[in-house]
Amino acid sequence: MMREDLIKRAEQRVDELAPEILSVSHTIFENPELAFQEFQSAELLENTVKAHGFTAVRGTGELQTAIRAEHKPRSDALNIAFISEFDALPNGHACGHNLIAASGVWAAVVSDELVRQCDLPANSIFLGTPAEEGGGGKIKMLDAGMFDGIDYAMMIHPCDSTMVEDWSLAGQTITFRFHGRSAHCAASPWLGANALAAATETVNMVNAWRSQFRDYSRVFPNITHGGEATNVIPDFAELKYNVRSDDVTYHQELVAIVQNCAECAAKAFGVTVESEKTFAYEPVNNDKTLEKHMAAAFTHLGETVIPRYRDHGIGSTDMGNVTQRLPAIHGHLFLAKENTHTTAFREAAGGAPGDTYVVKAVKAMVLTAIGLITDQQVLNRMQ
Ligand SMILES: [Zn+2]
Ligand SMILES: [Zn+2]
Repeated sequence: MMREDLIKRAEQRVDELAPEILSVSHTIFENPELAFQEFQSAELLENTVKAHGFTAVRGTGELQTAIRAEHKPRSDALNIAFISEFDALPNGHACGHNLIAASGVWAAVVSDELVRQCDLPANSIFLGTPAEEGGGGKIKMLDAGMFDGIDYAMMIHPCDSTMVEDWSLAGQTITFRFHGRSAHCAASPWLGANALAAATETVNMVNAWRSQFRDYSRVFPNITHGGEATNVIPDFAELKYNVRSDDVTYHQELVAIVQNCAECAAKAFGVTVESEKTFAYEPVNNDKTLEKHMAAAFTHLGETVIPRYRDHGIGSTDMGNVTQRLPAIHGHLFLAKENTHTTAFREAAGGAPGDTYVVKAVKAMVLTAIGLITDQQVLNRMQ
């Protein structure tokens, strides 16, 4: 079957399924669940793929809402994964993950039908990835082997523009805990070892470094504990740093700079310091072949694909770690001229713009998969 016929067939099938696609989007929108607590949403996604013959496996421990689902795979085929994020923010689905959820799961179902009906050399795999908002769900799924054997992975995020290129920052939070010795601040302050002084001097030293940081570095402190009484030299202080960079190697250099400053400050004030790091987000590095096929899909669907411009807001996502590990894409499709995480964006995600978006996003993902499956270079590389 020719690529054009496959595209036509896929678009017809998505249009037929539109009421069911919207139902998943609306149900998740109306029941927003926070990171790692998305039990109802996970169940809905799991039941959706199971109803279409997939076998689903959940993660364990913290990953109980993580899902991997597939049919018995063909061995000589491309393993293409469709990703659904489905966690909400405290202000509901203001990042539009209800749309990512519905588009990922239905793209997996439609692609699966297509490859089986038309005997195409591909397997369609569904991945439900929890806790994108700060929980690093995909990093934990990568570590747990839930992405193993996947050749290409894709997701589309709602946005104020349509783009296939992406750019995000590596990011990590480091917590420093300074331990000193308390003393009366007036009667005998010289007997104390001032943990707060070490914390504030760490901030001063990092600020002195700041003028030499590379572009697109973001290094932001929070003193989360600085003593409990104004008449006591603090014997404990806690300082947190959020450290980000668009370069994965330089990010580690920045982390080392901040760490050195904290250790030097501790030494200077005669206190000890211990540090703890969260998992590290890595920058997005979209696969060029996927960018090409997703751009063609968006254009086919009437979208204008613009380049990822550098003053468009940048954040960090656990999809970055996926794109550093295997060919993958974090694409963006226009939802509304609003910023994510706002009330206006949430209203768009749950309203008419979201309904238009989600049907288009399913088509775009299935068309991207068709692009891969009919790309001779991709097939040659697989053999
Ligand atoms: Zn978000
Ligand atoms: Zn998001």
